[in-house]
Amino acid sequence: MIRRLSAHAARYLARLFLLFVPISLSPSAGSRAPAMLEPEPPQVDTSACSVGYAYGGRLQNGFEMPLEGKHHRFTWNVRKKGSNFGTPEMVSLLARAAGVVGTAVSGPPLVLGSISKKNGGKMRPHKSHQAGRDVDILFYAIDPEGRRKRAVGFYEFDEAGRCLHKRCKGWKFDVQRNWWLVRTMLWSKRPQVQYIFVSKGVKRLMLNYARKRQEHPEILRRAKRVLVQPGNSSPHADHCHVRIYCSAKDKRAGCKDAGPRWDWIRRGA
Ligand SMILES: [Zn+2]
Repeated sequence: MIRRLSAHAARYLARLFLLFVPISLSPSAGSRAPAMLEPEPPQVDTSACSVGYAYGGRLQNGFEMPLEGKHHRFTWNVRKKGSNFGTPEMVSLLARAAGVVGTAVSGPPLVLGSISKKNGGKMRPHKSHQAGRDVDILFYAIDPEGRRKRAVGFYEFDEAGRCLHKRCKGWKFDVQRNWWLVRTMLWSKRPQVQYIFVSKGVKRLMLNYARKRQEHPEILRRAKRVLVQPGNSSPHADHCHVRIYCSAKDKRAGCKDAGPRWDWIRRGA
């Protein structure tokens, strides 16, 4: 059953990925493949639409992200609530970012908390997560023996990267994998990321690591603005919360952004 589910999930995510591959990956102009080798058009229903604000809207015909794939898992709580639905752009971003990290720095899968329920709307205890454009992401970690581990719960990390909960004594924040995840999302053109809510301590930890590895200055500039400790909820030392902007198509159908629009955000993307 598990194997069948995983194979299904892998096919589903691969089809979804096809929708968002950059043009540059298409065959070069002039090269004509025989008809039988042309790829099938992706059979993915992308009619989902984010309506209204992230903290007061809804999700129409939400797009389901498989509960598990090669590089991700949802928490038990999400399975219970059925909150693994988002816009196609959000699901694509998560699948892509988890895949990039899993390939660049191999290790266990990314653990995801809630996105939204199939039709969005209020979902306790969250204020947002109503329109398929928010997601909670647990941090990658390293155990006391130095082995990469998947997150086991919403446990806080301090500024030195030490896990503060008694159940993860001696565990460390996996700054390499967490930074890869963040930089992949910051660089995404479609969708574009508005916020990554995270504590000041965890933000500093990642930025110090990024500077040390001589990260691209544009990615550093974006990270300084997009990574924010929220003022009106928990400091987010135990997970990060990512919010994406409305897509151009959803905007025309009533999707609404609030807050800053960063100077690198392209119109109509
Ligand atoms: Zn959240």
